[in-house]
Amino acid sequence: MTTIQRVGLLTSGGDAPGMNAAIRAVVLASTHYKIEVIGFKHGYNGLINQDFFKLNPQQVHGLINQGGTILKSARCKDFHHKNGLKQAANTLIKENIDALIVIGGDGSFNGLLALQQHWSGQVIGIPGTIDNDIDGTDHTIGFATAVNTAIDAIDKIRDTADAFERVFIVELMGRHSGQITFNVGIACAAEQVLSFENFNTTDKLARLNEIAKDIEQAQKTRQSSYIIVIAENLWPGGAHQLAIDLKQHSQTDCTACILGYIQRGGSPVAKDRIIATKMGVAAVQMLIENKSNIMIAEQNNALTTIALTTAVKHQKQVSNSLIAAQKNILAMSAQSGV
Ligand code: ATP
Repeated sequence: MTTIQRVGLLTSGGDAPGMNAAIRAVVLASTHYKIEVIGFKHGYNGLINQDFFKLNPQQVHGLINQGGTILKSARCKDFHHKNGLKQAANTLIKENIDALIVIGGDGSFNGLLALQQHWSGQVIGIPGTIDNDIDGTDHTIGFATAVNTAIDAIDKIRDTADAFERVFIVELMGRHSGQITFNVGIACAAEQVLSFENFNTTDKLARLNEIAKDIEQAQKTRQSSYIIVIAENLWPGGAHQLAIDLKQHSQTDCTACILGYIQRGGSPVAKDRIIATKMGVAAVQMLIENKSNIMIAEQNNALTTIALTTAVKHQKQVSNSLIAAQKNILAMSAQSGV
C-alpha cells in the first residue's frame, strides 16, 4: 500500500461515450480514499500547457449519461518529442502529482510509456476508444455505444434502401480495425461486410468484379435493398470512391453514406457506463496497491490488469468466430434466396 495524495487524470485520443462515466468513477473512488484528483485538459496538451483544475464529486454529479469528455480530448504532437515529454514531467513534479491515470487508446498508452522515461510516478491506463482495438481487453469504453449508434443509423438507411430497392455503401469508423464493421454488419444483416480481415484491395478490378457480381446475383433473386458496410481506410478513396468505381466498372448504382462522427458521440449505453464505472474504480484501487504500468482490462466479464507494454504490442484482432459467423449467415441467406 502506498500513500497517494494527488492523482492526475486526462482523456486522450478520440473521445468515446463513457469517458465521462470513467472520470466520475475515478473522482468518486479517489475521494473515498482521500486522494485529490487533478484533471488535465485536452489530453497530453494539458500537462505541457499546465492547463488543469481540481475535480470534486459535485462536478461529476449527473455525468454518467453524458457523451464526450468534460476534460476535453486531443491529439498532442509535442508528446512525440523529448521536449514535450520533459515539459509534461515538469508539470507533474511541480504540482506534486503522485500518479497519472489516462483514459484513451493504444496511442495514448504509448504516450504514457514514453512519459515514464522522464517521470517516475505511477501510471495506469483505462481503455477508452470506440475502436475496441486494444489487445488484452474484450471491451473498450465507447465501443458498445458506437456499435449501437451505427446499427440505429443503418436500420434507418435500410428503410429507404428497401423502399427504393437501392444499393447503399455505408462506411464505418475503426481506424484500421474491423471490430465495429463486423459487429455492425452482422447486427444489420448487411449483404456484404468489407473489412481488413476478409478483404484485400490490392487487386481492385478483381474485387470490383466480386462485389458487382454479388449485387447482381442478389438483385436477380429478390428485388430488395442491398447494404454493404465497409471499414474506413479500406477502399482507396473511401465509400464514395467505391460507389464511383462500381458505377464505372459495372454500371452498378450505389449510394455512399459515411456515418462518421455520429459514431463517437451520444449518451453511453448501459455496457459502457458499467465498464467505465468498474474500470475507473479499479484504476484507483490499483494505485493504492502500488501497481503501475498497467492497463485495466475486462476479460470474460471479469476485471483484470495487463502490462501497458503488452496492451500496445499488437492491435486486437477481430475474432475468427465473428468473421465465420458473418460468412456463414450470408451463405445461408443466399441459399434461401432472402
Ligand atoms: P483513438 O485510436 O481512439 O483515437 P488513441 O489514444 O490511440 O485513441 P492516438 O491519436 O493514436 O489516439 O494517440 C493519442 C495521443 O497519444 C497522441 O496525440 C500523442 O499525444 C500520444 N502518443 C501516441 N503515440 C505516442 C508515442 N509513440 N509517443 C508519445 N506519445 C504518443
